[in-house]
Amino acid sequence: MKYSMDRLVNCLKEQHISVTPQRLEILKNIISRYDHPSADSIYQEVRRHLPMISFNTVYKTLETFCQLGLITKINPLHEVARYDGNVAPHAHLVCTRCHKVEDFDWSWPDDIPLPDASPEGFKIESVSVQFFGLCQQCQQQ
Ligand SMILES: [Zn+2]
Ligand SMILES: [Zn+2]
Repeated sequence: MKYSMDRLVNCLKEQHISVTPQRLEILKNIISRYDHPSADSIYQEVRRHLPMISFNTVYKTLETFCQLGLITKINPLHEVARYDGNVAPHAHLVCTRCHKVEDFDWSWPDDIPLPDASPEGFKIESVSVQFFGLCQQCQQQ
C-alpha cells in the first residue's frame, strides 16, 4: 500500500513541513519505484531534475519522511539502508548476490504475532521479515 501524492502532500502540511520542490521530487521518486532504492540511488535520479540538490538534503529528507511514517526503511544486513514507499506490512525477498530487494506479499501480525512478553529490558515495537536467497536471474548464472 502506497500513499498517493495528494495524501503525502497533505501529511506534510499537517505536520507543518513546507512542501518544497526538493521534497516533492524526492517523494515522487520513492513512490514511483518498486526497487527499494538506496538514498544514493534516489539522489542520482532526483538530481537530474534538480541539479543543485545535495546528497545530504536527499538523505535528511528521506529520514524525515521515515519519521513521519510516509515511507519505511529496510536494512538488509551489512548493506546500506534502502527506502520503501510501501508502508503496508510486507516481507522482503533479498538476493544475497545482487542485493535486489523485492516485495513479498506476506503479512503479519496474523502470520507472525509479536510476542506478548518481551525479553527482559527490551521493548518490542515492530517486526520486519526478510527472506534471503537468490533471485531468478542470479540462479540462472
Ligand atoms: Zn540476484
Ligand atoms: Zn517493500
